[in-house]
Amino acid sequence: MSTEEKPQFEHDCKDCTFLGRFEMQHGPTLPMEPCDLYVCGVSVIDTVIARYASEGSHYVSGLIFATRNLIPSLVEALKRAQAKGYRVPDDIRNDPDRSPDVEITD
Ligand SMILES: [Zn+2]
Repeated sequence: MSTEEKPQFEHDCKDCTFLGRFEMQHGPTLPMEPCDLYVCGVSVIDTVIARYASEGSHYVSGLIFATRNLIPSLVEALKRAQAKGYRVPDDIRNDPDRSPDVEITD
């Protein structure tokens, strides 16, 4: 297993599956910050998560931030979760504010 495939921060949810590492800039003048991507759920996605540090609250989550194309790390987590066969729940799939730029696959 390469280091790329291992989480760099602690995350203690047993329903989460690690999706790999990612880097994201939180503002145009800020440096790139590494994070760990996760999907929470069994075969249908409950939420997607990007963790920036091991402290409990240092993460962002919410499937809607991915499907509305608001947080790039969560868009990437959604893409990777779908590649692993996870499905997007129908209410999120049918969200009227869903971004046309974010692909939802079956
Ligand atoms: Zn979880």
